Amino acid sequence: MAIATINPATGETVKTFEPLSNEEISLRIEMAEQAFTAYRHTSFAQRSEWLHAAAKLLVDEREHFGKLMTLEMGKPIAAAIAEVEKSAWVCRYYADHAAEFLADREIGTDASRSFVRYQPLGVVLAVMPWNFPFWQVFRFAAPALMAGNVGLLKHASNVPQSALAIEDILMRAGFPKGSFQTLLIGANQVEHIINDDRVKAATLTGSEAAGASLASAAGKQIKKTVLELGGSDPFIVLESADLEAAVATAVTARMINNGQSCIAAKRFIVQESIADTFSQKLVEKYQALKVGDPLNPETDIGPLATPTILHDLDAQVQTGLREGGKLLIGGDPQAVPTKSIVALQHGNFYPPTILADLPPESAIAQEEFFGPVALLFRVPDIEAAIQLANRTPFGLGASAWSQVPEEIERLIDSIEAGSVFINGMVKSDPRLPFGGIKRSGYGRELGVEGIREFVNIKTVWMK
Ligand code: NAP
Repeated sequence: MAIATINPATGETVKTFEPLSNEEISLRIEMAEQAFTAYRHTSFAQRSEWLHAAAKLLVDEREHFGKLMTLEMGKPIAAAIAEVEKSAWVCRYYADHAAEFLADREIGTDASRSFVRYQPLGVVLAVMPWNFPFWQVFRFAAPALMAGNVGLLKHASNVPQSALAIEDILMRAGFPKGSFQTLLIGANQVEHIINDDRVKAATLTGSEAAGASLASAAGKQIKKTVLELGGSDPFIVLESADLEAAVATAVTARMINNGQSCIAAKRFIVQESIADTFSQKLVEKYQALKVGDPLNPETDIGPLATPTILHDLDAQVQTGLREGGKLLIGGDPQAVPTKSIVALQHGNFYPPTILADLPPESAIAQEEFFGPVALLFRVPDIEAAIQLANRTPFGLGASAWSQVPEEIERLIDSIEAGSVFINGMVKSDPRLPFGGIKRSGYGRELGVEGIREFVNIKTVWMK
C-alpha cells in the first residue's frame, strides 16, 4: 500500500511519501535507544509538564488537526475536532495520574520490606490504524511516555500527515528528540523492527491478520505484545428497554466514524415483541442521515476511508443478501445522493444500510462489517439474545438495554466481551480499561491497567 494522503471524498491524491529504507529505520531505532538511556531517568513531574504542553497544543490547534484527519480518512469534521480534544484529555489524564499508578506498591511478606516497582521497558513499537488517527496514537503515547518508555510509530499508510503531525506535537511540547518518532514505512517492514534487539515490545491496533502477523514475529523474539483487533459488537434491546433512547443511541453507535469503529454496534439483537417498532424507528432515523462532504458540518456520514473498504463492504452486503438477508434500507453504493455532486463523484460513499434477518449460522453473520451497515436480528428472549451475542469470534464490547435488574445482572455476567455498557453505547474513556477477548485481542489500554502493560513489574524483597 502506497504511503499517501488520498482524499476519500474525491479520490484525489494529495501527497505521497517514500518509505524509509531499512538502514534509515536502523538509525531511527538507534536514536530511540539513545534517547531512552536519558529519558528513563526524567521525573514524572517533568514528563507531566511535557504531556500537558502537548495537550495544550492539541486544543489550541484542534481545527487544523481535525481538518487534516478529515482530509486523510473522511470522518465528519465535528467528530475529527472532538477526537483531537479527546486526545488532549488522555494526555492530561496520564500526566496527572501516572505517578500514582506507577508508585512503588508495598506488599506485606516475610521480608522486612517487600514491594513492587514499575520500570519502563525501553523502545516500544506502535502499529496503528487510520480510523482514529490521533486518538489511537495518543492513547498509546501518553501512558508509554509517562511510564518512561520511548515510542516508535508505524501508522497506517493512508494517514501519513497525521502521523507526522503527532511526532511534531510531542517534540514541540518539549519531549526529548528521539523519545517519540514516526516512521513512514509499509506493513512489510514491521517484522524487521520487531526482530531488532533494541525494540522491546509492540502494540498493534488493527485487523486480525495484522495482529496475528505482528504477534507471531514478536513471539519468536519473546517480546511482549498488546493487540486491539476487530469487533462485531452486539447491541441487545430487550422488551423492557427505553425504546426511544435505545433507537437514538443505536444510530450513533452504528454510524460513528462513518461506521468504521472497532467498537461500533454492528449486530442489533432485538426481542421479538418490540422488533417491528424498533426496526421501523431505526429505518426512519437512517432515512434522515445526510451522506456527503465530511468537511460540511451538516454531514452525518462521510466517505469510507479507502476504495477497498467500500468494495469489501459492498461484497459483504451482497453475500448477506444471497444468504437470506433482507434490505430494510440502503445497500446500493450507486444510489448515494452525493454521487450527483461532481466533486464527490469519485468518493468512497456508501449509504446507511440495514440488513435484517441474516441466518445467524451463516458465515457472513460472524464477520465484522466496517461501514454504515447494521445487521438486525430478532430473538424470543434474553437467553437467545445472549447466545446470539456470543456467537462470534470477537469479544470487544457490547451494549445491552433493559430496565429489569435481574436481566441486567445476567447480561453483565454472560456476555463474552472486554466491556459491557448497560443502557448506553460502548465508548472508550481514559479512566476505564479498554480491550477485548477472543479474536478481538488481548491486553488493555487506558486506565491503570493500560499504563502497566509496558513496564517491568519488578519484585523487591529486603531482609
Ligand atoms: P489493518 O490493515 O490491520 O491496519 C492497521 C495497521 O496495521 C496499519 O498500520 C497497517 O499498515 C498495519 N499492518 C497491516 N498488515 C500488517 C502486517 N501484516 N504486519 C504488521 N502491520 C500490518 O487494519 P485496518 O483494516 O486498516 O483497520 C481496521 C481494523 O482495525 C478493524 O478490524 C477494526 O475493528 C480494528 N480496530 C480495532 C481497534 C481496537 O481498539 N480494538 C481500534 C480501531 C480499529 P498499512 O496501513 O501500511 O497496511
